[in-house]
Amino acid sequence: MCRALIRLICTHLYLNNCTWELSRYRLLGIKQFIRMFSQLKYRIKKEHQIAAVSVSIAGAIFFAATIGVFEPLELGILDQFFRVQSSAKREVDDRILVVTIGEEDIAQMNQWPISDENIADLVQKIEKYGPASIGLDLFRNLPVAPGTESLIEVFKATPSVIGIERVVSPAVEPHQTLAALNQTASADVVVDDDGKLRRALLSLIAPNGDVKQGLAARLALDYLYQQGIEPEMLDDRGLLLRLEKGLIERFEKNDGGYVQADDGGFQVLMNYRGDHTQFESVPITEVLAGELTDEMVRDRIVLVGSTAISINDLFYTPLTGEQQVAGVYIHAYVIKQLLDTVKGQMFLRTVPDYAEWLWTGFWVVACIGIGRSMFQSKSIRSGVLAWQLLTRLLALGSGICIAGYALFIAGWWLPIALPMTAVGATMALGISYQNQRLQSLAAFDELTQIANRRSFDQYLAEALKEPTQLSLILCDVDYFKPFNDLYGHPAGDRCLQQVANAIRQGVRVADLVARYGGEEFVIVLPNTTSEVAVEVAGRIQQQLQQARILHEGSQVNTWVTISCGLASVGKNDSVSPLRLVQYADQALYEAKQAGRNRVVVSQWQTHDDQKASASEAA
Ligand code: GH3
Ligand code: MG
Ligand code: MG
Repeated sequence: MCRALIRLICTHLYLNNCTWELSRYRLLGIKQFIRMFSQLKYRIKKEHQIAAVSVSIAGAIFFAATIGVFEPLELGILDQFFRVQSSAKREVDDRILVVTIGEEDIAQMNQWPISDENIADLVQKIEKYGPASIGLDLFRNLPVAPGTESLIEVFKATPSVIGIERVVSPAVEPHQTLAALNQTASADVVVDDDGKLRRALLSLIAPNGDVKQGLAARLALDYLYQQGIEPEMLDDRGLLLRLEKGLIERFEKNDGGYVQADDGGFQVLMNYRGDHTQFESVPITEVLAGELTDEMVRDRIVLVGSTAISINDLFYTPLTGEQQVAGVYIHAYVIKQLLDTVKGQMFLRTVPDYAEWLWTGFWVVACIGIGRSMFQSKSIRSGVLAWQLLTRLLALGSGICIAGYALFIAGWWLPIALPMTAVGATMALGISYQNQRLQSLAAFDELTQIANRRSFDQYLAEALKEPTQLSLILCDVDYFKPFNDLYGHPAGDRCLQQVANAIRQGVRVADLVARYGGEEFVIVLPNTTSEVAVEVAGRIQQQLQQARILHEGSQVNTWVTISCGLASVGKNDSVSPLRLVQYADQALYEAKQAGRNRVVVSQWQTHDDQKASASEAA
C-alpha cells in the first residue's frame, strides 16, 4: 500500500513533467542534450527533491501509524461518534432489570458489605417473579454475617443465580457454593490507557487453564440458550462466532485505531448505541421492601450491583466524559449488545490493515484529483487560491468524517485521523510543488522556452552588484514585420522559436539567453571580454544561417538574419544594468543603420574615457 501511494505521488508530481522533457531530448543531438541538461539540472534536482519529500512523508506517516501515534486521535474521534450516536433517545430495554445499590441504600441499610442475610432475602424476592437469571455483581469471597448459612441454602436452591470472581491477578475468589455449582463468571474488564472502557471481555483463560466466561456473556448466552439460540464458531482460530443473524468478531491487537493493544481472552469492541437510561433500574432497598412487580422481573436478566461512589465500582466510557458509569451498567451494555447481535445489530467491527490503507489511499487519490483540477483552473493567479484550498481541504476533511461516520453507523470502525493526516500532507506537498511550478513559469518564456525578461533583469542586476567582467548582446530579427506579413503570425512564432534555438546553440553553457521582448533577444556572457563576445555573436549568426529560415521579404538575405548590439563592462567599470542595456541597444541601432545582419560593439567606454580626458584637459 505504501509503495502504491509513493508511486502515485511520484507519477502525479514528478514524472508527468519529466517525460515531456525527455521526449524532447530524444529529438535533439547529444551536444544539445548536454547543454540543455545543464539548464534542466536545476529543475530536475528540484523535482527529485519533491519525489524524495513525498516518499519521506508517506514513510513518516506509515511509521507514525505503525507505532501508534494516531491511536489517541482515532480513539478520541471514535468517542465523539459514540456520543453523537447515543444522543438519540432509545427505548427502554425490556429484557434487562438493574438492581442498584446506591449511596442512599447503603446509608439506609447502615451496612457495607451487605450481609449474607440481606443478599439471601434479595435473591428470594427476585426469584419469586421468575427471572431468566440473576447476575450478582458483588464479590462474596468472604462470609458477611448474619445469614451466611441461609445464603448458602438460597444459592443451592437457585440455579439462576450467577456470582462473580476476578480471574486476572490480583484474583478475587468466588463464593464457594456458587463455584461448586459452576454458577460463577468473571467480572474482569479491559481498560484502555486513557482509563476508558471500549472493549468487553466475553471470556478469558484462568491460570488453571479453564475458560471462564465474563458475567455479561454468561448471562446473555444462558438467556439465549433458553430460547434455543447457541453461538456457532465459524473459524478454526476462534476469531469469529455466529449468533443467529449477527457475527461476533474477536478483537485483535491492531484492530481499528488500536496499535499493539492487549488482545488477551475473547474481547469485542463495544458499540455504545445509547446511554444507561435505556435500562430500567430499581434501588435494592425498594426490592427488599417488596416493591418489585411481576412485569419488572419475569423472564428478564436481573443484574445486581453497586452504583455508590464510595464503593468505586465505576468506569469511564466514551459516552460519559468525566462522569463515570457503574460496573453493573457496563455488564448491562454488554448483555444488550450480545442480545442485539441475534437481530444483526453487532459489536463494532473493523477491516483488515490493507483495507484501512486502501481507504486512506482512496482519500489521497481524491485529494490529488481535487488539487489537480484546482491548479489547472484559470484562477491560479487570481488570489483566491488560498481560499479555494481551505474550502476544498475542509470539504475533504468533512467528507472523511461523514463517510467515516456513515460506516460507523453501519457498524464499521475505520481510521479517520490517518486519512486526514495523509490528505493534509498531500495537499501541502501539492502546494509546494505548485509553487515551484509557478516560479518556473514566472522565469521562462512560454513560446521560446528560454528565460524571460524578468529573469534577465534579476540576473543582470545581481551580476552587476559585484565588480565583474561581463558582456551583453542584444539581438533583433531583421525585417521581422515583413516576415509576419508574408508568412502569417503563427509562422512568425515558429521563426522566433528557431531563432531562440540558434542562439542557444551558439552560446556557451555559462551564458544566459533570454527573450527581451517581441523579436528581441538578449544574452549575458559572464567573465567575457567584448572580443570573445563578438565571436559568440558571430557563432549565433552562423547557427541561424544554418537553420535556413526562408525570408523572401528580407532586403539583406534570403534567410532570416539578426542584428546584434554588444556592450561590455570591465572589472573596474561601474555601470547600472539599465545603462548597459542602453549601450547595447544603441549599438544594435547602429547595426540596423549600417545595413543589418551584423554585430556592432558599443564604444561607451571609449566615449566616457574621451569625456574624462576632455574634462581633465579643460
Ligand atoms: P527591423 O529589421 O528594423 O527590426 O524591422 P522589423 O520588421 O523587425 O521591425 P520591428 O522591430 O518594428 O518589428 C517587430 C515585429 O515583430 C512587429 C511584431 O508584429 C512582431 N512580433 C513581436 N512579437 C512577436 C511574436 O511574439 N510573434 C510574432 N509572430 N511576431 C511578433
Ligand atoms: Mg524590434
Ligand atoms: Mg526587427
